[in-house]
Amino acid sequence: MSLMATSKALKLSVALPPAPIGAPRLRQWALKEDKEIGYRYLESRDLEFKAQDFLVWNEVADALLNLVEPIRELTLEEKKRYGEGESFTMRDETSPDQILSFLNTYGQVGLADYNRRASFLRPFTLDGGELTSEQFRALVNLPHYKKESDRKKQARALKEKFANHSYRFERLNRISWGFEIPLVWVERDLFDLYKCVRIILALDKNYTKENIPYFSLTMTQSRALRNFLLASQKVAVPLGKSEDYKYLKSNRWKIDDKVVKAEWEKFAINLNRFLTPISKNSVYSDLSLKESQKTLGVETWLAYKMLESRADYSEKVCQRAKCGKPYVGQRNTKRFCSKSCATTQRVQIWKEKKRNSSGKSRKKAQAKGKKKNG
Ligand SMILES: [Zn+2]
Repeated sequence: MSLMATSKALKLSVALPPAPIGAPRLRQWALKEDKEIGYRYLESRDLEFKAQDFLVWNEVADALLNLVEPIRELTLEEKKRYGEGESFTMRDETSPDQILSFLNTYGQVGLADYNRRASFLRPFTLDGGELTSEQFRALVNLPHYKKESDRKKQARALKEKFANHSYRFERLNRISWGFEIPLVWVERDLFDLYKCVRIILALDKNYTKENIPYFSLTMTQSRALRNFLLASQKVAVPLGKSEDYKYLKSNRWKIDDKVVKAEWEKFAINLNRFLTPISKNSVYSDLSLKESQKTLGVETWLAYKMLESRADYSEKVCQRAKCGKPYVGQRNTKRFCSKSCATTQRVQIWKEKKRNSSGKSRKKAQAKGKKKNG
């Protein structure tokens, strides 16, 4: 007799606030850098927000899938350079310019997490003191330089700047008010949002009798578990875009139960983090609703829309061989990521057919010719 471990399926129920949610407002952001300390941030001086009415969530999800690079395996060259660990994976960075253009097209990212911003309020530290330069360094992830001389230079500059009251005051206030977002926050939130979007697309949405939406995941090896691990970037995709969705070797995605559970928890935490601007209050006045919609970013809007949607969407891979991009498609309909890919593919097929048929007729003609001559 053997004892079988029975692990219950993981479940996540969704209770969205009834607040109506408009598309994220637009502000113009610019990329800035404080070179002396290596601090990069996005800045907006806009007080007026531009409303955008005609934004469809799957378009924004598509743009996000396009923007963020998934975790991947190392190339042969990289393996030579870094050594060959089984667990070694890479993620290619998105250029700040691309991030900027995403934010200026669809809306801001990085402000939804109120708690993170609140650590910049004064008095903000647990002991009631002011934020130190070292705490600042940790909160905005200043780069760690390899060269000792660079490190010293950075530490000196940071100390000097923080000794300057008005520098410190302005910097911290701007961050807590949301006129300035550290670039690392945006990068991190985009990646977390990217994971959430892919996980939601990978899971089946169910409804209770009371019509409450929920997601569940069984811990046994299954297609659903594999999709979840792929979407949460817990397994690296083999190189080559089209390989992404092929069945991976079973040992590649067999992962400890604890890791799966932790990842499931993280998924819930991130969604809650993104939804804070609309979920932190359960009672809304007209005014507070208006206020929260002003600061609403893409992460909040997209998470809300995807959890609320009843449409049957899933992640697909563009069927044009040279493209192979993932995109959000309604199940059983579109086969290409974009109109241009669909057209290119159609033209390609037509050309191939033409080539084949002209090839055939040429062969026929040659055969006829041979007969005549022979
Ligand atoms: Zn395509």
